[in-house]
Amino acid sequence: MKPKFFIFLLSFWLLMPIFSFAQDLQNDNNFVDAHKSIGNASSRLLPTDVQNAYDVKWYFLNLNAESNTVALSGDVTIKAQVIYNVMDTFSFHLHNNYYIDSVLINGVKTNVITHEHERLITGLGMPKNTLFNAQIFYHGAYNSGGAFLADGISSTTDSRWGEFSVTWTLSEANNAYHWFPVKQDLKDKADSCRVFVTTTKPNMVASNGLLKKVVDLPANKVRYEWNSTYPIDYYLIFIAVAEYQDYSIYATIPQTGEQLLIQNFIYNSPECLADNKKVMDETKEMIKAFSEMFGKYPFSSEKYGHALAKLGGAMEHQTMTTTGGLMSNWESTIAHELVHQWFGDNVTCASWQHIWLNEGFARYGEYLWREYKFGKESAFNSFKYNIINSVVNNGKTGSVFVPLNDIDNENRIFNTTLTYNKGGVLVHMIRYEIGDNDELFYNILQTYQNRFKDKVATAEDFKNVAEELSGIDFTTFFEQWYFGEGYPKFDIKWYQNGNQLVLNSAQTTTAPSATPLFKVTYELQITYSDNSSEIIPFYHDETNKQFVYNISDNKTVNSIFFDPNYWLLASSTILKTNSIEDFVEDKSITIYPNPTTTSLHIKFENSLQGTKTISLYDVTGKNILTINTQDDLYTLDVNSFPSGTYFISFKIGKNVFVRKFNK
Ligand SMILES: [Zn+2]
Repeated sequence: MKPKFFIFLLSFWLLMPIFSFAQDLQNDNNFVDAHKSIGNASSRLLPTDVQNAYDVKWYFLNLNAESNTVALSGDVTIKAQVIYNVMDTFSFHLHNNYYIDSVLINGVKTNVITHEHERLITGLGMPKNTLFNAQIFYHGAYNSGGAFLADGISSTTDSRWGEFSVTWTLSEANNAYHWFPVKQDLKDKADSCRVFVTTTKPNMVASNGLLKKVVDLPANKVRYEWNSTYPIDYYLIFIAVAEYQDYSIYATIPQTGEQLLIQNFIYNSPECLADNKKVMDETKEMIKAFSEMFGKYPFSSEKYGHALAKLGGAMEHQTMTTTGGLMSNWESTIAHELVHQWFGDNVTCASWQHIWLNEGFARYGEYLWREYKFGKESAFNSFKYNIINSVVNNGKTGSVFVPLNDIDNENRIFNTTLTYNKGGVLVHMIRYEIGDNDELFYNILQTYQNRFKDKVATAEDFKNVAEELSGIDFTTFFEQWYFGEGYPKFDIKWYQNGNQLVLNSAQTTTAPSATPLFKVTYELQITYSDNSSEIIPFYHDETNKQFVYNISDNKTVNSIFFDPNYWLLASSTILKTNSIEDFVEDKSITIYPNPTTTSLHIKFENSLQGTKTISLYDVTGKNILTINTQDDLYTLDVNSFPSGTYFISFKIGKNVFVRKFNK
């Protein structure tokens, strides 16, 4: 799902180092778009224990609907199987605005007890494995007052290409019960579904799967009969009713050469077709691109497509996205929703706590589409830059993982900063962690898709796939980035001494009580006075870290640029210092006396165990001596050295510390 509006990111100076600037960012108009606020966050219905007694096999919706009202009538059949030893009570959810006319269990009329929005049929005594049909006849209208996206069903007039009344459903996260009887359990996908909708001509009805039949009925009525044979989660079932025209085209599935129907239901006006045609046509190339990246389009024996409605974003209904537009400035949104067919629909988050698996990947898919279209080295660094900056500038803390007590809070589940933007950056950072190796990256995505096809998954499941294929332990990564909060801020000071570049990097974090330290690798682009440059990675695993880098060819460092390829969610300041004394020193190594005449005592804290490599340099950066010691207290004889300034570095394990003294 992606509500849509554009954020103009003016504040791009914040991440910029003081000396250089990436020119390509200034001219790009493809800004990060984001999730709109979702009306009132209110408690949503989650599956009850009683509902866990059965496994949904099939939904058959047989409804009457019109384009100018949310009123519905008809019947819904839930075919299910008992999974408890005995199921005494059958329970489903349907909003209590609806009146239930009757319920038939295996064709036999039964009594229904209504408790709020839960409807219960008791006294069934069905043993385990019993297959049964519950057919629920109902009518009524859900009308909440029009909170954007919070409604399961909406109806309005769209005046953009004439006057078109349109009725559409949008059940994510827990709002399917606003329009049909349902078990709202992500983990219980129906094996298939059928949707029949009777309406008045010239309305047409969009839904999941294939349009099997359009049946003319008396009194100017018509019934659209849709059928889908793929497993489907409750929130991905939809209808949209309006006076549509059918703009159908075909994409080629790259793996098999099959032709895939792309069926677009847009309003029946030439202007509407003209305005939306370009992006609809471009969907062909998107299907090819994403099939190559993630594996064959998951619903290839049916279709993909779009149904227009007047919503402020779009929703990835299985096999057909409901969207507020397909105009050129919706291209990113259309790519986003198509990615959801893999990440969200084919593999669905097992709980709303793991919405990252849907939205983080769809958000990153917007970037992957640009990368496919324009190339990695193009100006589209701006997407990465903007998405990182939108998180940095937002200042919002909280984890990408949705805490349990927010599981029915749609504002939290669909939080733009955490779920979409930070979630998207996480996928990007995983790509860096595996060495920006595209073959491996797409192998991980495809393996995850294959392994959890038609099922649900958690972030742990994705992590396991990534670890299995890369051989990298992602435990720390997920602890700090997914379950942890905030991001690191680096205060980097540098100083050149001869051919030594000395850096002091101090890390603070934006949510220190949750995540006091991020163990990350960042890259610095070092630009020299002869305009040559190089990019060096530094692994930062301590609050305060010093690095010494050997510069070749006696070059002079002109400037240092933090994270030039936008791989890391972080902010930084970089300052050139005139002296090493400007460095913030930690207290783990003490040298004394300073200044000295004959000997220098070096005291290492107990935390610094192992071999210590001590290197001494003069002011020109010339290495005078290097010695190794295991001792916690070491005395260096400096009696024979000429007077002057020296600096001394200590390499202990992966850590480097630098000090300066005078003689
Ligand atoms: Zn989305």
